[in-house]
Amino acid sequence: MSFPPTDAGSSLRPIAILAARTVPHLSRQRHRWIVPLLLALSLSLPMTAQADQDDHLIAELQALRGSGDTSAAAVQRLRAIEAQTAGDASYPLRREILRADLVVLDESRGYEDTLAAMQSLRELADVNGDADTVNLMDINRIFMSHVDDDINRYIDQLNEVRARLSSESSPDVMEALERSYGNMYFDAGNFDSALRHQLAALEWAEKLPVGSVRARLFRLGTIAELYNAMQLPDSALDYVDRAFALGGDELPLQNRISLLMARAMALMQGNQLPEADLALSRAETLSLDDPSVFTAMRLGTARIKLLLAMSSPDDAIVAINRLEEQAKAQENSYYLAKSWVLRGEALMQLDRVEEGRALMQRALDFFESKGQMIDVLDGLERQVDTLRAEGLPVQALEAMERQQTLWVHLFRNERARTLAELEAHQSARELENRVSALSAENRAQQASLRAERLSKALALVLALLAALASAFLVFAIRRARRERDKLSDAARLDTLTGAFSRYQFQQRAVREARRTDASTGVLLLDIDHFKAINDRHGHEAGDAVLKTLVTRVRGVVAADAEIYRWGGEEFLVVMNPQTTQTVERDVVRLVAGIEDEPLRWHDTDIRLRVSGGFVRCPLADGWPASLDDAIRWADAALYLAKNEGRQRIEQIELTAAGIDSLRGQTPVDFVQLQDWKRRDLLQTRALGRGALVNAADDHHD
Ligand code: GH3
Ligand code: MG
Ligand code: MG
Repeated sequence: MSFPPTDAGSSLRPIAILAARTVPHLSRQRHRWIVPLLLALSLSLPMTAQADQDDHLIAELQALRGSGDTSAAAVQRLRAIEAQTAGDASYPLRREILRADLVVLDESRGYEDTLAAMQSLRELADVNGDADTVNLMDINRIFMSHVDDDINRYIDQLNEVRARLSSESSPDVMEALERSYGNMYFDAGNFDSALRHQLAALEWAEKLPVGSVRARLFRLGTIAELYNAMQLPDSALDYVDRAFALGGDELPLQNRISLLMARAMALMQGNQLPEADLALSRAETLSLDDPSVFTAMRLGTARIKLLLAMSSPDDAIVAINRLEEQAKAQENSYYLAKSWVLRGEALMQLDRVEEGRALMQRALDFFESKGQMIDVLDGLERQVDTLRAEGLPVQALEAMERQQTLWVHLFRNERARTLAELEAHQSARELENRVSALSAENRAQQASLRAERLSKALALVLALLAALASAFLVFAIRRARRERDKLSDAARLDTLTGAFSRYQFQQRAVREARRTDASTGVLLLDIDHFKAINDRHGHEAGDAVLKTLVTRVRGVVAADAEIYRWGGEEFLVVMNPQTTQTVERDVVRLVAGIEDEPLRWHDTDIRLRVSGGFVRCPLADGWPASLDDAIRWADAALYLAKNEGRQRIEQIELTAAGIDSLRGQTPVDFVQLQDWKRRDLLQTRALGRGALVNAADDHHD
């Protein structure tokens, strides 16, 4: 007999209910789980004085019920007692016959028949004013017919029954109530409430006068399963051990199989795969004595999970095929969907990622439509883990987000439900106290569960971020390198002369806030009659002149001076902050250096002559502030030099009047400069001219 306490078994119930309505064959299995509900009913009801005969029979019936024996011998004995009981037997005796009947005939009765039997016991109890039995039958009926895709309705019904309960209610009723809540919340994925109720049910089970050990064994197994579902394997193992300690050698086969399975799943979660294998193998061996196909499917599912954990997808597929065949033969859509999830994971392990995901999704949709939230969560969990293992963090995060949303939803529901329960109870405070006592342990578990889940999410997010960041960095570095290479190859330097390009100037000007307020020298040079050099000696000669010019400039100026090719034969020299004297001396030396020696070109000498415009910044205190403006002044000065006859460097300086009135203005042409000069706003002077102006030969030789 079983009240299947595993996640699979627990989840199976509502599906079995659905199936049982259409497939009569299933109904045998359908009420397997009802037995422990009935097992546990007590002797606590006040017994009126009965004939010795009645007392004797009642004791025997209770022992029968308590043992959970459904063998042919048990059925025969029950029939015999029924036959020897007179039609006017006392209510307690008739009640015990009906209750034993519900348990012992479990294997041979259909779903509707069971409901009918419960209903007639309820009516009998009602007539006899036995509120306890009425309540118990109501709870059983609600639990038996509950479906998970409409679980709220059934929980409401339980709330209604609880509202009717008096503080005198027997442990049977309380145990059945708490257990029903616990199982229903479990299937709905509301672990928090499920655990709270199962712990309460365990406490009540300890007080049961009949079948207390069996009831506690089932509770301990269920709680272990619950902890497994909550991914708290240590707690699960603890409860499995408690059950083995309680049951000893007398542990019924079904409990033994279920507990070994729970132990295997817990060990698997703790990544102790060989130990898990051992426990599961023992369960599989025991199951040879259990013909139930549900036990086979539950064990098959556990075996497949273990094979997948061991990364043996090929072996898993063989087991999945078997599970799928069994599910189809049983027309059991729950296990069929379960096989999809597991096959999906196996396919993903075999690198058939898209196929696997699609199959998993199909299963998730099914579970969701059935309200099998525990399986949706489990499926999502598997999806997340597998996607992570397959190195698909983006998809894993998507699944994770879905999971999180679901959690939030479930936990929100849980609060509302807990409130409803509290309201439904006669004494809200009393319940609250009990709840807080019971959930002390639960809270600690929840905290560690959440912490674990959070750290998992965090690890995933971090892995994802790291993956994204490194991908982005690689991309950015590559791009920056490309950019830099491009710049240095084509744009940064002038390929002919090796001077900086004008493009480079723009780049720098943008990047660096240039200051021109500390004796920066800005010199704009233009080769005189360069066109003529080209015309006379050829373009190559012109090129050579350009190169020579730059070489000579570089030989004179300080190392940190910047030389830009400003235009065709026009160069900008920026002499970085120096003293007034050095910067002007540099210009003189520079012109000398350029013009002193002719350039030897084949058999001719080419003389280099330059004109230049020079300004020393600042022209006035802090002005011009920008290098661009300073260059405009230098350009104007160059203009002047050309107009004054070339081969000279004109430096512009402002007079005191000019400083007052020209601030902020920039020169545009020669006429304007002449005008300013006439008005004594500026003065010009030729730099280094004296040494050079006498050069006898002209520029266009
Ligand atoms: P000015 O004294 O008024 O400055 O007269 P110029 O001939 O030097 O000035 P203009 O602007 O009339 O001519 C500049 C010439 O420079 C025109 C162009 O063919 C030549 N040039 C520009 N870039 C290059 C180059 O890279 N190599 C050579 N060989 N010539 C160039
Ligand atoms: Mg020129
Ligand atoms: Mg020019």
